[in-house]
Amino acid sequence: MRKYYQEEIECASPEQIKAWQDERLVKQVKNVYENNTYYRKLMDEAGITPDDIQSTADLHKLPFLTKNDLREAYPYGLMSRPVKDCVRIQSTSGTTGRRVVAFYTQNDIDIWEECCARAIVAVGGDEDDVCQVCYGYGLFTGGPGLNGGSHKVGCLTLPMSSGNTERQIQFMRDLGSTILCCTPSYAAFIGETLHDMGFTPDDIRLKAGIFGAEPWTEEMRRDIEAKLGIKAYDIYGLTEISGPGVSFECEEQTGMHINEDHFIAEIINPDTGEVLPDGEVGELVFTSITKEAFPLLRYRTRDLCVLSRKKCSCGRTHVKMSKPMGRSDDMLIIRGVNVFPSQIETVLLKEGYTPNYQILVDRINNTDTLDINVELTQEQFKEYNDNVEGYEKKLAAAITTMLGIRPKVHLLAPKSVVRSEGKAVRVIDKRKLHD
Ligand code: ADP
Ligand code: ZN
Repeated sequence: MRKYYQEEIECASPEQIKAWQDERLVKQVKNVYENNTYYRKLMDEAGITPDDIQSTADLHKLPFLTKNDLREAYPYGLMSRPVKDCVRIQSTSGTTGRRVVAFYTQNDIDIWEECCARAIVAVGGDEDDVCQVCYGYGLFTGGPGLNGGSHKVGCLTLPMSSGNTERQIQFMRDLGSTILCCTPSYAAFIGETLHDMGFTPDDIRLKAGIFGAEPWTEEMRRDIEAKLGIKAYDIYGLTEISGPGVSFECEEQTGMHINEDHFIAEIINPDTGEVLPDGEVGELVFTSITKEAFPLLRYRTRDLCVLSRKKCSCGRTHVKMSKPMGRSDDMLIIRGVNVFPSQIETVLLKEGYTPNYQILVDRINNTDTLDINVELTQEQFKEYNDNVEGYEKKLAAAITTMLGIRPKVHLLAPKSVVRSEGKAVRVIDKRKLHD
């Protein structure tokens, strides 16, 4: 079985990686300055010319790009190549507002698919594998990215897209799928449906899953691993930078290797923009150094995480990022307290509840309210029946210990929380609707 997709790159020495980055960054900055009027204007305003960027040590001098810039420059304003050189667009799923569009040359697509191929080989994939891709296809990057990566590795690829879950399980059984690619919330739903159909993990051949595109906790990982009888790996990416495969987990399952031959990662203080040392939590910023059509320099992802250069037992040398704790704009401020949905998910799964929940925030009489709907399993529903209120109080107390503020918990009948086939909608913040 092969261990790496591109060993000489994935296991290159830190000096070699730095040399690639220095050379590619200098070239990319020149390219963008010459071909992209939008970014040239930002550089001019900051008083920076391409000559000021001689290596990665100068990266911090460049101005940031944000999602707002992408919206302002929509649709063609941030391209560095003419449309005639491009072969595809993809678009964000619009989780946080208006969609943005990214452009690809054929070479951009090849590199993106190679990054996904690295992720598939890292979970033990090779040409003997049957890879079932149930991320959405179309404008969303999940389906096309993993589909392309699976082809490059030589797996038999099942381009299922999301939805029609019973049919997913039928194909999984009939064709003997060994690798599953989808969002973690959909993986949990597939696991639940497998069980509802009367099957156990022994009735399928899956060995690994590549799950990403939304935040998920370690507790959720263990839940999915048990439900499907697999090892579950994380994958991260964003449309603006290419799509899934910007970083991926290896067998150590302790963070995701960033493909540093294509993307330079920085962590900044989101309030001041100051670059933070490895090991500190902050906002992840990417510079794409090999992209042709749509290279973004110092793009602020709004994802909060930590970088680590600790040696990895898998042999890969590229820097690792922690699971994003959520987006900086995902963070809820409730009665002055910072709350991440992932903290609530951690408590729920630890207390033996399902990952089927929804967080509702509102403001009533000038006071923030926090309600959490949690679905019970059939067994819990029977067992808790006499004392639902007592269990609600107990769970509310456990969440209060974690967050420092008290929620109202509502334990609901089985199947009452809507299941997700793509990115799950965990939070409904009604305060935003009132503003
Ligand atoms: P949108 O911003 O509309 O959701 P994308 O579909 O491009 O656009 O999603 C990219 C975002 O998805 C990332 O910035 C990040 O917030 C989230 N994301 C992607 N992969 C992961 C992951 N493995 N863990 C947590 N969040 C992720
Ligand atoms: Zn590793």
